[in-house]
Amino acid sequence: MGELRKDYILDRYVIIASERGKRPHQFAKETAQPKCPTPDFFAPGNENMTPPEIMRVENDDPKTKKRWPWKIRVFPNKFMAVKEDGNAEIKTDNQFYTFSDNFGKHEVIVETPDCSKQLWDLDISHIKQVIDVYCRRITEIRKIKGIKYVCIFKNNGKEAGTSIVHSHSQVIAYNKIPEIVRQKVEASKKYPICPYCSLINNEKQSFRRCFENHTFVAFAPYASRFPFEVLILPKAHVKDIVDLDDGQKHDLADIMKNVLLKLKELNAPFNYVIHNAPQGENMHFQIEILPRLTTWAGFEMSGTVINPMPPEDAAKFYRGEE
Ligand SMILES: [Zn+2]
Repeated sequence: MGELRKDYILDRYVIIASERGKRPHQFAKETAQPKCPTPDFFAPGNENMTPPEIMRVENDDPKTKKRWPWKIRVFPNKFMAVKEDGNAEIKTDNQFYTFSDNFGKHEVIVETPDCSKQLWDLDISHIKQVIDVYCRRITEIRKIKGIKYVCIFKNNGKEAGTSIVHSHSQVIAYNKIPEIVRQKVEASKKYPICPYCSLINNEKQSFRRCFENHTFVAFAPYASRFPFEVLILPKAHVKDIVDLDDGQKHDLADIMKNVLLKLKELNAPFNYVIHNAPQGENMHFQIEILPRLTTWAGFEMSGTVINPMPPEDAAKFYRGEE
């Protein structure tokens, strides 16, 4: 039996086709992580192969400092989708042609000097430092006139859109609020209190629950579009990742590590996207983790997605019951 399901608040439907179902480990990718290239542009010693550094987190471990002088490093993307020297104003010509320059900032955050490690291999304190860097870049880039939104995301694996093995995240900040964030903001306004605050209590006790700690819950969303999709929400209403204190960021790193370690078991390519409330708006801060174990085909291009893995079964896998 399957089901047609609607997203919690968005007007977005998926078909959960469990009769196509496979056991969780049948989704696993067999190929091991590809080897690091030579030269590895993101490695220590090759800093001159990237655009000029924006910031770094120094390595304070004397035992490894010589080999790895830094732990995290940020620089502009060599192949920028957007750049800061354009005009941010969006105009419309002749009714149908709306445009601006491709204005914004596009940066790379290298999460570790060690190419043999992925984010899921790093310890919680290191992942927390990556989150700190996200927050510092968001705070800094928001000051730029014309920037409407700072999007932080990660592509891991070829199917998730990157051929670069060395673990990294990206920042794209631009003159537009991403459509899905805008839809979440607008949909949230239709409820007397924040709908995410309301649904957390249900979901953290449901068959879709995955992990929980003091500050955060992670669950497989009711209308998941991807097998093993996870939504991470702070239990209290927080609008913005930069508003988290140190302990809360540690809890975020902890719950992300739990999810990522399970994805490692499947050798899963994945994306994640951080959804902050746009400046001046109200929306429950969240992280969508989107494993890319299936390929979207023709029907998905019509707007409705078929997901062959019921989120209730995905959650069992995350809880270690499968
Ligand atoms: Zn809320």
